[in-house]
Amino acid sequence: MEKLFESMYQLIVETSTNLPKDVRRAIKKAKENENAGTRSAMSLATISDNIKMADDNVSPICQDTGLPTFKIKVPVGVNQLKVKEVIKEAIVKATKDGKLRPNSVDSLTGDNSGDNLGIGLPVIKFEQWEKDYMDVRLILKGGGCENKNIQYSLPCELEGLGRAGRDLDGIRKCIMHSVYQAQGQGCSAGFIGVGIGGDRSSGYDLAKEQLFRRVEDVNPNEDLQKLEEYVMENANKLGIGTMGFGGETTLLGCKIGAMHRIPASFFVSVAYNCWAFRRLGVHINPETGEITEWLYQDGEDVDLSNAKEEAAATSESENRVVQLQAPITEEQIRELKVGDVVQISGMIYTGRDAIHKYLMDHDAPVDLNGQIIYHCGPVMLKDEEGNWEVKAAGPTTSIREEPYQGDIMKKFGVRAVMGKGGMGPKTLQALKEHGGVYLNAIGGAAQYYAECIKGVEGVDLMQFGIPEAMWHLRVENFTAVVTMDSHGNSLHEDVDKSSLEKLAQFKEPVFK
Ligand code: SF4
Repeated sequence: MEKLFESMYQLIVETSTNLPKDVRRAIKKAKENENAGTRSAMSLATISDNIKMADDNVSPICQDTGLPTFKIKVPVGVNQLKVKEVIKEAIVKATKDGKLRPNSVDSLTGDNSGDNLGIGLPVIKFEQWEKDYMDVRLILKGGGCENKNIQYSLPCELEGLGRAGRDLDGIRKCIMHSVYQAQGQGCSAGFIGVGIGGDRSSGYDLAKEQLFRRVEDVNPNEDLQKLEEYVMENANKLGIGTMGFGGETTLLGCKIGAMHRIPASFFVSVAYNCWAFRRLGVHINPETGEITEWLYQDGEDVDLSNAKEEAAATSESENRVVQLQAPITEEQIRELKVGDVVQISGMIYTGRDAIHKYLMDHDAPVDLNGQIIYHCGPVMLKDEEGNWEVKAAGPTTSIREEPYQGDIMKKFGVRAVMGKGGMGPKTLQALKEHGGVYLNAIGGAAQYYAECIKGVEGVDLMQFGIPEAMWHLRVENFTAVVTMDSHGNSLHEDVDKSSLEKLAQFKEPVFK
């Protein structure tokens, strides 16, 4: 069991820190297709840097290390209870070592267990098979993309596409719509797994199961193969692009599976996964517990270096670059326009769900006048001297703070909020009235941003747990894009509108 523990620990660490080669190949292709000097090209270059840094530092690719889901096939006779216990021990150690963020919270009290264990977590699903080895696969799927999963019950009416009936063409419309509705909020460019049929729960299971297929495999069902190819070709015409900044690549992979259903129900379930597609697998010798083979890691090393993009960024960039240091004045903010790239130096303060709820009814623990709130739940560890170290610190999905954000900015004089995926009309209105901006950092670029953090100057509200506490971070050249400004402009609204118009071109039947 000791060897199995080591193997499971290795699987968890590799999955969190080392992106599979099939995923890297898809990202490389997206970079080659993207136009030089655009915001999407800049984002892909940052993503590439981030992947390399995660390799070098053996640190989480993204700070949201997700909900661990294991799919395990075992020969008859393997003690599943013992395997489960070993996996739990490995999860606890990986959390302690900063390879996983403590992500498991009590659904009723919000208390964080601190070790990634909890009722029902991690998810471990066993199946028996006839082979004489174990097949263990792990996916770490973050909340930002999980929240963009969607399930359709056919027939239904879809914005832009009209009626989707109970046939292959109706399924096609649902899948196209699922990509549109995700916009950039699941850290596009993304991958989708689609499950056709089943009931609501087995449909979602089937969709997630598709994410364990290799990016380059070919569907053995001819109809589904054609559908996968169609979606790959056409979803990228929606123009949503990396991070929803607009661009050539919105989708990196599409895998579709089907199961039987009962006549009364017809579900199409879609599991959306961000570019930080962390899933790996191993074959294990059940006698020794040793890894005999790694899955998804075949083929040559993939070179994601950025030389071409860096040259293009200096010569053809569409972006104005502005240096920003807090406290920021209203005048400085009013000068910023959608599309500007900002490089922040000085202090930023993290705040996500618990902090925003708290600030509505309480005073802030620090003076936030003119300051920047960063929507981020970092991975933090104490070094040998007991000082906090940032292990991963990318942005989290901002839209969750929509009910609070505008009020908090006005109440405390906050001038900028930074996160990913954009915010809604209430925040946009507040930015206009109060003089504020929304900054979109590159989702998932947790190593890249951790490197921009030069010091942890303090922390407040630790009662909410590490990811939810307010961290005071000193940063240098922390780069983000202004996607909502103080003049009523929102890049997110613009991309949503234009992609909806483009979606409408796929209204006519394709599959009879
Ligand atoms: S890359 Fe984005 S969606 Fe994926 S886990 Fe990280 S923050 Fe969440």
